[in-house]
Amino acid sequence: MCAPSHLKTGYEAFRRQRYAIEAERYRELGEGQSPRTMIIGCADSRVDPATIFAAKPGELFVVRNVAAIVPPHEEDDAHHGTSAAVEFAVTGLKVDTIVVMGHGQCGGIAASLAAAEQRPIGRFIAPWVRLLDEVRDELLSRGDTTSLAERQRALELMSVRRSLENLLTFPFVAEAAANGKLALHGAWFSIAEGQLHWLDGDRRTFSPLTV
Ligand SMILES: [Zn+2]
Repeated sequence: MCAPSHLKTGYEAFRRQRYAIEAERYRELGEGQSPRTMIIGCADSRVDPATIFAAKPGELFVVRNVAAIVPPHEEDDAHHGTSAAVEFAVTGLKVDTIVVMGHGQCGGIAASLAAAEQRPIGRFIAPWVRLLDEVRDELLSRGDTTSLAERQRALELMSVRRSLENLLTFPFVAEAAANGKLALHGAWFSIAEGQLHWLDGDRRTFSPLTV
């Protein structure tokens, strides 16, 4: 079966342009990778970490899932894809930075808010975004958001903070962070403005990253 033409066109451009320029880098990367940064982002097509950080191949170790959620450390036999990526990044690659990056208009966050109103969401999305139930219910019980857009934005930011807390439930993450070998950061990307907001050191407010 032939590759779809819209993908083949892009691949041809990659071969002609980026690969032609970076062939030597790719040859070196063929020997192994040593990225210093892990990005945990959303699967959303508009928030590609490599694009936002203008990263070269081999620079970012990325895991993307619905809503950029890090689950808490759980030792059961479930299929913990994100936890496996975190484990490899920290214990194998020994990254020194992890960034959890949420974003505006996140469908996964919208699904969590929809679930609170008993609106149907996907068979696999439902249990996944249930990881946000606690922070979502906290937000809704506060009652200080008047519009759906406000609730959406607030939960997008709270979700990043919760994922950072969940990261620290992994013993290898907590140990590396305590030893000063690993820094955990939170960020939120505004799609329409192409603007990254960075979580301040106090873990409370997100401020536009000035460049
Ligand atoms: Zn999203």
